[in-house]
Amino acid sequence: MPQLAQRVGRAKPSAIMVIAEKAKQLKAAGRDIISFSIGVPNFLPGEHVYAAARESLSHDSGQYGSNRGADALLDAFLKHIEALGFTGYTRMNLSIGIGAKQVLYNLAEALLDEGDEIAFAAPYWTTYRDIADIVGAKTNVMHCGPEQNYKLTPAQLDAALARKPKVFLFNNPSNPTGMVYTREEIAALAEMLVKYPDTWVITDDIYNAMVFDGLGYHNFVHAKPELRERVIFVDSVSKTYGMPGWRVGLLAGPESVAKAVTTLNSNHITSLPEVVSAAAVAALSGPQDIPQVKCKDFADRRDIVFTALTAIPGVVCPRPQGAFYAFPDISVAFGKSHGGTKIGNDVEFCAALLEATGVACVPGSAFGEPRAMRISYTCPAAQLQPGLQRIQQFFAELT
Ligand code: PMP
Repeated sequence: MPQLAQRVGRAKPSAIMVIAEKAKQLKAAGRDIISFSIGVPNFLPGEHVYAAARESLSHDSGQYGSNRGADALLDAFLKHIEALGFTGYTRMNLSIGIGAKQVLYNLAEALLDEGDEIAFAAPYWTTYRDIADIVGAKTNVMHCGPEQNYKLTPAQLDAALARKPKVFLFNNPSNPTGMVYTREEIAALAEMLVKYPDTWVITDDIYNAMVFDGLGYHNFVHAKPELRERVIFVDSVSKTYGMPGWRVGLLAGPESVAKAVTTLNSNHITSLPEVVSAAAVAALSGPQDIPQVKCKDFADRRDIVFTALTAIPGVVCPRPQGAFYAFPDISVAFGKSHGGTKIGNDVEFCAALLEATGVACVPGSAFGEPRAMRISYTCPAAQLQPGLQRIQQFFAELT
């Protein structure tokens, strides 16, 4: 028998999908399921996005497009990032991908040779480890537990960068923790980054529109403009505009990196479909009221989730300030039982919780923090309180 490539053996199916699949099966079997498992926005883009897509179809060329992205898309993104504080960029600093996920994969291919090191903090978005595994990079994981609010400290970053990783990958606001770095925290980390000129810095900031409490969105290049020659900012229309299925990711960074990703695009995907580009242009340059309203809604939901979780004795939940996730430390439950089912770890906890209550959450070990679980609070509004009550009840029934 011929063998699959070793690279495929290293890639694991997403733990998030495993839980979501199990929840789907239980639902199909007639169970009342509340899903806190999948990180998708609970809204659709505005009518102007669909109108732009329809209009585009009416004069679609049916041809391949630009490997870097359609000019109109690049120009819309330039304007968009200017409002986020990235000034002085041109089309030559940009490139696109089929979602931020593919942009990140392209960046890994563009910046990492086999055996090179990539540093990132845990808890991390599951795909970071998978992308590193697929390109054969070594991971240098900086553990940031609940006791430090899941946030990377300058001292931890300093120690990791001293090992001279090729890439430092940063995520703000964070999936899975919902943490947001303040202007001061970003400035303190940027101080460390300037000390290590041989490390590329990728900032995966696709939740930048979902920041609460007036904290604002900050990037290393805002703190230290000279970092522009090494920082690659990654964005996406998925979470900001409720468009995860449209698959549009974008980057802004040094020209050499944008060019490398564009070359990879010419080999991997060629271009985005015209209709998709037109929809993304409309989203980026049209009215921004939907993301603003949704951000406020998520902040209100955060309050409900945070209050419910911190009311559970022994559960520790650093207060999320962005995205749409909470990441409570549930380790107080380990070693206990629920209705005769022993709970030894996060995976057993989430399995027992789903089985007993119908609430689906993702075990923290998928994100490199086995003491916690991820709650994504984008479910229908009517399910939020009942889902949280079921979690509270589950804890109360532990023996
Ligand atoms: N980065 C993070 C932190 C994410 O949570 C996600 C999606 N869950 C992505 C990137 C990928 O987004 P996209 O839909 O643009 O591929």
